[in-house]
Amino acid sequence: MAENQLNGQQVLYLPEGANRILGRDAQRTNIAVGIAVATAIKSALGPKGMDKMLVSDLGDITITNDGATILEEMNVEHPVAKIMVDIAKTQDKEVGDGTTSVVVIAGELLRGAGDLLEQGVHPTTVIKGYKMAAEKASSILREKARKVDAADEAILQKIAMVSMGSKNVGDDQVKAYISKLIIKAVKQVMDKDAKGKIVIDHDLIKIEKKAGGTVGDTALINGVLIDKEVAHPGMPKSIKNAKIALLDVALEIEKTETDAKIEITSPEQMQSFLQQEEKMLKNMVDKIVKSKANVVVTQKGIDDVAQHYLAKAGILAVRRVKKSDMEKLTKAAGGKIVTSLDDLSQDDLGFAGLVEERKVSGEQMVFVEDCKNPKSVTLFIRGGTQQVVDEGERMVTDVIGAISSVIEDGEYVLGGGSIEVDLATALRNYSNNVGGREQLAIQKFADALEVIPKTLSESAGMDAIDTLVQLRSRHRTKDGSNTGVDIFKNAIGDMNKLGVYEPLRIKEQAIYSASEAAEIILRIDDMISSRSKPSGGAGAGGMPGGMGGEMD
Ligand code: ADP
Ligand code: MG
Repeated sequence: MAENQLNGQQVLYLPEGANRILGRDAQRTNIAVGIAVATAIKSALGPKGMDKMLVSDLGDITITNDGATILEEMNVEHPVAKIMVDIAKTQDKEVGDGTTSVVVIAGELLRGAGDLLEQGVHPTTVIKGYKMAAEKASSILREKARKVDAADEAILQKIAMVSMGSKNVGDDQVKAYISKLIIKAVKQVMDKDAKGKIVIDHDLIKIEKKAGGTVGDTALINGVLIDKEVAHPGMPKSIKNAKIALLDVALEIEKTETDAKIEITSPEQMQSFLQQEEKMLKNMVDKIVKSKANVVVTQKGIDDVAQHYLAKAGILAVRRVKKSDMEKLTKAAGGKIVTSLDDLSQDDLGFAGLVEERKVSGEQMVFVEDCKNPKSVTLFIRGGTQQVVDEGERMVTDVIGAISSVIEDGEYVLGGGSIEVDLATALRNYSNNVGGREQLAIQKFADALEVIPKTLSESAGMDAIDTLVQLRSRHRTKDGSNTGVDIFKNAIGDMNKLGVYEPLRIKEQAIYSASEAAEIILRIDDMISSRSKPSGGAGAGGMPGGMGGEMD
């Protein structure tokens, strides 16, 4: 129990059941947790990395190689483990790829820090050294980076292939095909901001997925794929040169919330009441017909009677479409979302070469495609099973992230561990010019980055230490700086010749996030948990064993 001595009297200031670990014990525990998380996902790194199968408490199965996904599904509870998960998520958000790397590097930074703490180096010295190293690494990265722009299809294609490399979805031919689709999609939605800088909003690339067919059936739709069916069987299923009314209007008679009663006493009254309703609905449809629209897409519902009139007018209608899809439709097909039918005019209509309902794996979907220069497109992911399309989606989002960051930044580096050995070599040189114990931390930072080539060679069944020694000596030579792990030949090789290219931003973000996480974790020397211990011992994960265990 937390207590202090005050004039010889005990003062308690934490609630009954609270746990606390202090000083070195806290650091030791936290470092161990960080390393454990990194170790758990390490085997997933690289094209020869293994998949993990995760089963949720509801029995849902996820099979993946994606660092961020593995960590998220692992449901970790220890606060330090959560920090590790957060950096993977940040990496995912900022870049979309490199999530395994960032966690593995952070784990290694913690391991190095642990060694230094054992030798009596103060945590703040380690933190300072790590900060210096991260900054130096970032500036070396920028020096080493190579230029690329959106027109360099061949380089973009290689970056896409490397990003896909680790996902076990489809063969190389299929991957090459999908990477072409993604590059096309990204270029289609890219835009310039006020300063003329290229910006790519990932939300403009809609990802739809449906189990069935093969991964090779994945397609790029120049428009929006709506997971809904045409509202009425009497409507056309396919319309060429579609003029689309985009509505946020219910084609229904509003039922008021008030308790008004309508008293109908004769069949004639009933008749005329219904006729009145029908007339109102017909009126609504007439306004749509007048606008010359031949397709209606609405966020709200469509009454049966209105559906009937629309069908009679030869209009294809889709109802209850998601707001986000409506917005994408305006970007893809043009046009405006109209909130009152009285305002609907020809100018508000969107255009698509084809709107068509098709049956996909037994379900109807509406394709709004062949839009003219659409600013929003859809990637429709297919694959044999739900697990495959799910992993396919993760693969596609990784590549979208990689390709857009490289187009936005215009810079890439060499992967396969080669850039990491470069950085490590440069950091060791730099550390010699840094006096004080920070030097030791900078050297540990260099060691930590080399976990990437080490792990890659391990995954290929090579001897990690031998490989690292060879890589280091190659990198000390004048033209050896392209050398990395040639995973498929089980040897070291020229990453430039092999085309193992990665976006600069992946590496930069990974280095910053990993060192920041290590710093946050190292700064903690007092862990207080006011959560009472779960009954039945050191619960799975909580402040696991260590938290209470080391205290009492
Ligand atoms: P992350 O989640 O960090 O992106 P990946 O499993 O995608 O992890 O692995 C990325 C690592 O694999 C990078 O270091 C990258 O350079 C390396 N890599 C990818 N493809 C190859 C390849 N063909 N040869 C060598 N290394 C590769
Ligand atoms: Mg990757």
